[in-house]
Amino acid sequence: MKKDERALRQAIIDKCLWMNASGFNQGTSGNISARWRDRMLVTPSATPYDQLTPELICSMAIDDDSGAWDGPLKPSTEWRFHRDILRARPDAGAVVHTHSTFATVLAIARREIPSCHYMIAAFGGDEIRCADYATYGTPELSANALKALEGRNGCLLANHGMIAMGANLDKAMWLAVELETIARQYYHSLMLPGGPVLLSKAEIADTSRGFATYGLQDRKPA
Ligand code: 13P
Ligand code: ZN
Repeated sequence: MKKDERALRQAIIDKCLWMNASGFNQGTSGNISARWRDRMLVTPSATPYDQLTPELICSMAIDDDSGAWDGPLKPSTEWRFHRDILRARPDAGAVVHTHSTFATVLAIARREIPSCHYMIAAFGGDEIRCADYATYGTPELSANALKALEGRNGCLLANHGMIAMGANLDKAMWLAVELETIARQYYHSLMLPGGPVLLSKAEIADTSRGFATYGLQDRKPA
């Protein structure tokens, strides 16, 4: 395995370890993928993150429908939505799926997250949609997720969790953390008498203009 590919596999593992150590995700739920040339590197299914090594990360061809993979362990049961997102969205370099608590609480209630905070604009629109329910790992779940992600960088999955995508692993995880944060804030605002005051479409559009140049920064080469 070439050095660059090994480094990307290790970067996936580092994100998995961070995700659980920070309490953002629990146990072996959730999964992470990254684009490597015309292939997808994805976490293996139901494998404790602290046991992962670069060799255990699965590799699958993005344009292959067979489900074939390279690696000693089966890929994540959600390989299909990871693969379908990377296939449909050339802007996506990495995909993070978690069962983070507040995003999942809203997803259990099948609520979308409305324009309750200006950071919603970082996801590409006025709201973060909640994808219709389908059994985990199915083509139906993948189709529902792709629909909810149209023009967006993140969505909730009914009675399941959330997905965030970005140009690379750092950006996908940055948005995953933002999504969970907005979910937590929105949830708490629902407890207040009168509930949240939502931003208008014009206010979100105004923020979106700034977001054309806002977000996790790529360092300029020295
Ligand atoms: P895997 O362990 O197969 O990746 O599944 C976890 C999960 O979150 C399924 O939706
Ligand atoms: Zn899941």
